[in-house]
Amino acid sequence: MKCRIKRGELIRLEQDKFYFDLCKVCGSLKIGFKWIDTDGFESAIDYIVHNYIRDKIRYSEGVSELKIDGYRFASTPSWHTDIDIIIAGKYGEASFKVPLRLTIFFRPTKCPRCVMYDSREYEALIQIRGVNLDKIKKVIEDEFFKEPRLGRDYIEAIETHNGLDIYFYSQGAARKLARKLSHRLGLIVKENYEVAGTRSGKPRTRLHISLKKK
Ligand SMILES: [Zn+2]
Repeated sequence: MKCRIKRGELIRLEQDKFYFDLCKVCGSLKIGFKWIDTDGFESAIDYIVHNYIRDKIRYSEGVSELKIDGYRFASTPSWHTDIDIIIAGKYGEASFKVPLRLTIFFRPTKCPRCVMYDSREYEALIQIRGVNLDKIKKVIEDEFFKEPRLGRDYIEAIETHNGLDIYFYSQGAARKLARKLSHRLGLIVKENYEVAGTRSGKPRTRLHISLKKK
């Protein structure tokens, strides 16, 4: 059995090189259409191994109970990193545990959130956490429909791994939408101001509104 595993007959990876966008400013990792917050290379790799690689393992008939039983770095975590993932499983009655080598490449990029933070336009941000996204989207579309002025001041909504960030040109529009969402979805509102440079000599502040489940 060992030889068959070695020859890659029983298990193998669909590919041994994986490419991901990683934000060079905040460390967010892009998987599919979503950006996931991470604490840097190690944390991004950990997320990839546990949430992405499993589906890339190919195995032949007779193999069962396949799982990733840990991994180790074969090079220092950086923009490209070699790792050995340990695959455990059963072939017939016999258990096996084998390492598979793969390389994760990160492409340095700037995530939409960091682009937005740097942009001059944005004046207010609503951060919604802990609510079903489909539900939020429906309510937001509904409110935009009822009040077109909200849509005029809207810049962009960015999905994060645990919620939604909505950017606005004006603080008034953000506050208004936040009030409606809080009312309709039963959310707690918290406001604070962040100083973001100066404008015509005066400190410029941006409004951050947090909406959370009660
Ligand atoms: Zn970023």
